[in-house]
Amino acid sequence: MGKNGLIIAIDGPSGAGKSTITRLLAERLGYIHIDTGAMFRTVALAARRAGISVDDERSLTELCRGCAITFERTGDACRVLLNGEDVSGEIRTPEISLLTSSVSARKGVRDCMLEQQRQMGRLGGVILEGRDIGTVVFPHAEVKFFLSATAGERGRRRFLELQAKGETQSLEDTIADVVRRDRQDEEREHAPLRRAADAIDIDSTGMSIEEVLDLMVKTVNDKLTETG
Ligand code: C5P
Repeated sequence: MGKNGLIIAIDGPSGAGKSTITRLLAERLGYIHIDTGAMFRTVALAARRAGISVDDERSLTELCRGCAITFERTGDACRVLLNGEDVSGEIRTPEISLLTSSVSARKGVRDCMLEQQRQMGRLGGVILEGRDIGTVVFPHAEVKFFLSATAGERGRRRFLELQAKGETQSLEDTIADVVRRDRQDEEREHAPLRRAADAIDIDSTGMSIEEVLDLMVKTVNDKLTETG
């Protein structure tokens, strides 16, 4: 266990509820929440702004090294800053979601993010959510969850989120995007989306947020008792 507590990994496909659950679990435990998807999204946004193609790995890697990505918390809201600018809203559009999936497949980008994520989590007392936390970033994390739900359910959740933000994408297109992004994330060569062999599977289809949270809190508390 790190100086500040356990390292908890929450991986899974898009729309499985990772962000909401991780935020609430972090609040309950008094842990830091690191949204690694937001980090990759921020790189994708920076690439689009700079007009860098997803095929230009060298420029992407250079860009990535020059990006200072930080998180800022005010009450319930967690903001993502790119070189000090709040980009929290801009990184959540359907277009950036798909672009992120391509940008995050590049090894140079992954290596750069890997270093930053390990640095952020090294003292423990953290929950990292993403696709490769339990397999690559922290393969020795003390607690690992793989959170999933059916594609239809995940697409529906994303659709409601987008609708609340005034986006007009249809439910059908949203489900198709989720499926496409998962396929890209699962089939990429570097650090693909995969369940760690020692991860605890949670299928959140038909489960309430509170039920998922209670299950996770119990698992973490058992681990804390076990490690003394
Ligand atoms: O979790 P979120 O939907 O915000 O992630 C956006 C994208 O970032 C994913 O579709 C995936 O391509 C990428 N990602 C990743 N590795 C992580 C977290 C996210 O490749 N650890």
